[in-house]
Amino acid sequence: MNYRSMLVMLLFLAIPAQSQLSLVPSPQEWQLKSQSFMPDTLVVLEFDKTQPALQTLTQTLRRDLADLGFSASTVPVASGQASVIELSLADDPDVPPEGYRLTIDSAVALSAPTEKGLFWGTRTLLQLFESGPGYSVPQLEIMDYPKFEYRSLLIDNARRFHSLQFHKDMVKKLSGFKLNRYHIHFSDNESYTLPSAAFPDLPTENRHFTRAQVDELVRTAKEYHVAIVPEIDVPGHSGTLNFKIPELLCTDAPRDTLVKKICIGAESTYATLETLFAEIMDMFPGEYWHLGADEVSYDDLECQACLQRLQQENLQDGGQLFHYFINRMHDFVKNRGRTMLVWEGFDPHGEPVVHKDILVCPFDVKWEGHMPHDYMDAGYRLLNTAWTPLYISSKIYMTTPEIMARWTPFMFGAGRAPQPFKYWQKYDPEEVRDKIIGAQMCSWENLEKAEMGLFFGTGPGFPDHGRPAPRLQIMAERVWSGNQVSAKTLLERLGEAYW
Ligand SMILES: [Zn+2]
Repeated sequence: MNYRSMLVMLLFLAIPAQSQLSLVPSPQEWQLKSQSFMPDTLVVLEFDKTQPALQTLTQTLRRDLADLGFSASTVPVASGQASVIELSLADDPDVPPEGYRLTIDSAVALSAPTEKGLFWGTRTLLQLFESGPGYSVPQLEIMDYPKFEYRSLLIDNARRFHSLQFHKDMVKKLSGFKLNRYHIHFSDNESYTLPSAAFPDLPTENRHFTRAQVDELVRTAKEYHVAIVPEIDVPGHSGTLNFKIPELLCTDAPRDTLVKKICIGAESTYATLETLFAEIMDMFPGEYWHLGADEVSYDDLECQACLQRLQQENLQDGGQLFHYFINRMHDFVKNRGRTMLVWEGFDPHGEPVVHKDILVCPFDVKWEGHMPHDYMDAGYRLLNTAWTPLYISSKIYMTTPEIMARWTPFMFGAGRAPQPFKYWQKYDPEEVRDKIIGAQMCSWENLEKAEMGLFFGTGPGFPDHGRPAPRLQIMAERVWSGNQVSAKTLLERLGEAYW
């Protein structure tokens, strides 16, 4: 070995490639070149101005670059006076859906087959440009795409109301880590937090959005390619619905206490829910609807309407009536062009068979003895929302980043606080690759001000809320990149954000 090759070898050992590319999530394929690129303060975005999709995308990018101290223009300037970022939509058979290519040499070139892919590419670019003008970034080539299609966070807006500003900030934060769904739990026993023209008394006083606020949130979400998935939890967790619309109650339900489940026998229930859901679907355009459908039992039926429905539909018991309810709501949702999600709870082998195109979110991993594999074996596809490590709640054991980093979307954590949990993974990931569409972190009952810390590890901690830590970045890594990066490297890459 001569002196020069020894020096190269030493340099290689001294500077591991990972430390030079601290992107989260890590790209699928990347190659660093030996030189660096110095972005000017003035950045010119070049793109085909006849494409409306690119107009919107570049407007968003200009704003985001301005936040980092750049001045981004779409008007060409004399060469040498500005850095050029070229954005283009182009067919590319080697780039999967949502994928993109990014090349940085003397200029920046970003291309993708879809607008969405191009947008994720801009998120990578923003991470590289994070230090602002005058800080060099490595010249490189990236080819990137997500491993999982559904990458999500849930916010519980019903137990703790969250401001419009929080939700807008959260949408931007999520998109920065290439998360593409934002599930909002809008209704529960504690409150109903959406506006309603059809049921004007329904929204909880001082704890609901106006239609104009909803529209503003939807606009932001669209710009940032994050789909909002609304949930009005029924038939359980429906105390507020019952309180405000007593016609939803079973005939035998008490009228003087908060009842946490609605009647699923009466035809009027279906008419009410369809009116309400149609109104909400109009507020939140998109391809998904979350029905809730968790933690509820119809075992001891005494309601006349429910008993009559059993007879009419030839159903044996309340469990079957519950399946009937899910299927009827699914028919409504599907007719409106959406895919429905439910929490775990129904019997995967029960009658009538719950429609197989409903996506199931296992959380407890032992509720009524139904395990994730029971749903998968019966033919359902799953969104991993398992309690551990994906539940973020001050009331229960919250997973540390060290443990989270060893998780993958194929693992479902069983067990609750305070004992350490066990991961449950029955199948080889390759066997069930098509049955798990992604993962979602779920934040329950947390104070709004504590959540940036709990998810991203930024900001102060608060008493009774857990240790601030970059949990969401870790999930984002695993749903986008898979597990090609070791837990140790991932934690190192989170750098200063890691508490
Ligand atoms: Zn009933």
